Amino acid sequence: MKTIFRRIIDRELPADVIYEDERCIAIHDIHPVAKVHALLIPKKEIPRLSSAEAGDQELLGYLLVVATTVAAKLGIAETGFRVIINNGKDAGESVPHLHLHLLGGEPLGWKHG
Ligand code: 5GP
Repeated sequence: MKTIFRRIIDRELPADVIYEDERCIAIHDIHPVAKVHALLIPKKEIPRLSSAEAGDQELLGYLLVVATTVAAKLGIAETGFRVIINNGKDAGESVPHLHLHLLGGEPLGWKHG
């Protein structure tokens, strides 16, 4: 069974694409929790952060670099943004294909601060 994100990458489902290269794709989240809410998804299907292996180290760093590129494209690089990875049940992970949430466009609360 393909995940929703695999189907978006394969263009079987529509998505509002912000950025794409050979290693990842950035789309607008369908249910935004902030004024700006993007998802950055590696094309390599790693189920979750805790499934990443040593060989994924470079890709994980690359995603963080691209997150800043995407933030700039969305106009939130200067005002500030937050990058989140939900890992597992307690974190609310709902799609088992690693993805980074990119939030911004307004002041963000921080319950655990
Ligand atoms: P998670 O809860 O796994 O960290 O994040 C999954 C995210 O994917 C959620 O924020 C959810 O709104 C988003 N999402 C789920 N299905 C779709 C979809 O079909 N299209 C888009 N663009 N986002 C989706």
